[in-house]
Amino acid sequence: MQRHHPVVRQRAPDSWIVSCPECQRDNQQAPPVGIDLPVSSRAVAEMLATNHARQKGLDRKLAG
Ligand SMILES: [Zn+2]
Repeated sequence: MQRHHPVVRQRAPDSWIVSCPECQRDNQQAPPVGIDLPVSSRAVAEMLATNHARQKGLDRKLAG
Protein backbone atom coordinates (compact mmCIF):
# COMPACT_ATOMS: atom_id res chain seq x y z
CA MET A 1 0.00 0.00 0.00
CA GLN A 2 1.39 3.37 -0.98
CA ARG A 3 0.52 6.28 1.25
CA HIS A 4 0.92 9.90 0.36
CA HIS A 5 2.96 12.27 2.47
CA PRO A 6 2.24 15.82 1.32
CA VAL A 7 4.65 18.52 2.52
CA VAL A 8 3.78 22.16 3.25
CA ARG A 9 6.40 24.72 2.26
CA GLN A 10 6.53 28.48 2.52
CA ARG A 11 7.62 30.16 -0.70
CA ALA A 12 7.09 33.79 0.28
CA PRO A 13 5.67 35.70 3.27
CA ASP A 14 2.15 35.20 1.91
CA SER A 15 2.57 32.17 -0.32
CA TRP A 16 2.44 28.55 0.75
CA ILE A 17 2.48 25.44 -1.37
CA VAL A 18 1.68 21.79 -0.79
CA SER A 19 3.79 19.30 -2.65
CA CYS A 20 3.44 15.55 -2.61
CA PRO A 21 6.42 13.34 -3.47
CA GLU A 22 4.17 10.38 -4.21
CA CYS A 23 2.11 12.38 -6.71
CA GLN A 24 5.26 13.77 -8.31
CA ARG A 25 6.64 10.29 -8.73
CA ASP A 26 3.38 9.11 -10.26
CA ASN A 27 3.45 11.63 -13.08
CA GLN A 28 0.96 9.77 -15.23
CA GLN A 29 -1.77 11.40 -13.18
CA ALA A 30 -2.44 15.11 -13.03
CA PRO A 31 -1.79 16.55 -9.58
CA PRO A 32 -4.93 16.55 -7.42
CA VAL A 33 -6.71 19.73 -6.41
CA GLY A 34 -4.62 21.82 -4.04
CA ILE A 35 -1.30 20.13 -4.80
CA ASP A 36 1.48 22.26 -6.33
CA LEU A 37 -0.80 25.27 -6.14
CA PRO A 38 0.24 28.35 -4.16
CA VAL A 39 -2.20 29.43 -1.44
CA SER A 40 -2.12 32.53 0.74
CA SER A 41 -2.20 31.02 4.22
CA ARG A 42 -0.46 28.27 6.08
CA ALA A 43 -3.75 27.10 7.60
CA VAL A 44 -5.20 26.47 4.14
CA ALA A 45 -2.07 24.68 2.99
CA GLU A 46 -2.06 22.46 6.10
CA MET A 47 -5.73 21.64 5.51
CA LEU A 48 -5.11 20.72 1.88
CA ALA A 49 -2.20 18.51 2.90
CA THR A 50 -4.24 16.77 5.60
CA ASN A 51 -7.18 16.23 3.27
CA HIS A 52 -4.92 14.87 0.55
CA ALA A 53 -3.22 12.37 2.86
CA ARG A 54 -6.57 11.25 4.28
CA GLN A 55 -8.16 10.99 0.84
CA LYS A 56 -5.33 8.86 -0.49
CA GLY A 57 -5.47 6.56 2.50
CA LEU A 58 -9.22 6.18 2.08
CA ASP A 59 -8.95 5.56 -1.66
CA ARG A 60 -6.51 2.78 -1.01
CA LYS A 61 -8.69 1.24 1.67
CA LEU A 62 -11.78 1.31 -0.52
CA ALA A 63 -9.88 -0.10 -3.45
CA GLY A 64 -8.94 -2.99 -1.24
ZN1 LIG B 1 -0.23 12.64 -3.35
